[in-house]
Amino acid sequence: MSRHAVDSHRGTIHTGVVVTPAPFDRFTRAVLLTDFDNTLVRLHPNDRAWEELRLRLEDLYRPVLAEGFFSRLRVDGYDVWYRAHNLAADRLGSDARGLNDQAEAAVTDFERAAARHAQVLPGVRERLLHLEGAGVAVGVVSSNATAIIDEILRRQGLRDLVSVVVGRVLPFDPAQAKPSPFTLRTALSAIVRPPGRPAWYAGDHPDDIRAGTAAGLLTIGVASGRHSAPDLTVAGATMTVDAFAAIAQGDIAAGRVVATAHSGGA
Ligand SMILES: [Mg+2]
Repeated sequence: MSRHAVDSHRGTIHTGVVVTPAPFDRFTRAVLLTDFDNTLVRLHPNDRAWEELRLRLEDLYRPVLAEGFFSRLRVDGYDVWYRAHNLAADRLGSDARGLNDQAEAAVTDFERAAARHAQVLPGVRERLLHLEGAGVAVGVVSSNATAIIDEILRRQGLRDLVSVVVGRVLPFDPAQAKPSPFTLRTALSAIVRPPGRPAWYAGDHPDDIRAGTAAGLLTIGVASGRHSAPDLTVAGATMTVDAFAAIAQGDIAAGRVVATAHSGGA
């Protein structure tokens, strides 16, 4: 079975996109795309998983990168991996393809291990149900592997509340990852939306806000990750909330911004 086209029992994973058949239709009042890790769930990779990933990436990129290149992997996250990918492509040209594909597979294995301990953040389930009831179509757009996101959503009984899942597009190219708007546009094109209905992107990282803005969406900074509401505002967030559970479906459907809703210091 190709990694690029994997049938699942509800929808098809094709180059990193899973679309639920019979998506939301003309009754859709608004679209809310959302990031995954630290916005809807926490993946919880443990120390061993991080160390295994670091060793695998160091081993793979040994021919092209200096020793210690991945020492800050855990601090800087996928930015370090993206830089390694791009440097390998610069130095090896098309010969980097196999190497970079193996690195992507190593990251997917890492995410699979982290997924075993994934926790849905408080109130997310209830909020997704309310959004569905309010006619808001929800899509997940993430830098994680599509198959892992899909698996976690199914296991948690949330997959039916999400109409499209767009993770890493394969073959992976960091130029298509956030802050690029590429994956957000892919998700938007999969959701039927009557003209004039608002579309949003919610995420916990400044790059989520930048990607949403670049895609022409209204944005919600969700301060449930490592970045504060003021940081997300500086990145250009239309509004901020403390948690995904605090997103008001009425405001989303109306496309209006009533207030910045965060309790920090209030
Ligand atoms: Mg995130």
